Amino acid sequence: MLAAVTDTLTIAERSRLMAKIRGKNTAPERAVRSLLHRAGYRFRIHVRGLPGTPDVVLPKYRTVVFIHGCFWHRHRGCKIATMPHSHVKFWAEKFRRNVANDARHRRKLRRLGWQVVVVWSCQLKHPDRILAKIEKALMPRRTTYVRPEPVRLPLAAESRPAYGR
Ligand SMILES: [Zn+2]
Repeated sequence: MLAAVTDTLTIAERSRLMAKIRGKNTAPERAVRSLLHRAGYRFRIHVRGLPGTPDVVLPKYRTVVFIHGCFWHRHRGCKIATMPHSHVKFWAEKFRRNVANDARHRRKLRRLGWQVVVVWSCQLKHPDRILAKIEKALMPRRTTYVRPEPVRLPLAAESRPAYGR
């Protein structure tokens, strides 16, 4: 069992392992970048000037993508997001901070007018779905208020009123 194996790590070993996983250019990040690259998108990576240093930034679409490890960033309902059996308080606090930081970064980015897409590492099993998820965000947004047509004009589909000539 994965849980049993990971639990045998000391806290220092686990921290080192996690630091490595959190490092830049992880396999999931490279996979997402290569997906976007093949689809012809231009993007920047690890942009420090933006909240949370997003992993991928598509300036043209004002969209950022975070590629989150499920364990570290606590993918809800994901079987990878296990809780270590030892040092529970330590991990619970660490996870709480990570989740709070992620939420704060997303909030700040949205306030600055950026769209935020989160890709979870477990989703890399389905690269087509990841691309679809990102591309959905890149489509023109339809949230702007559309003013309804003035009602004084007869609608085109209505039968012509009998005005006479
Ligand atoms: Zn997951």
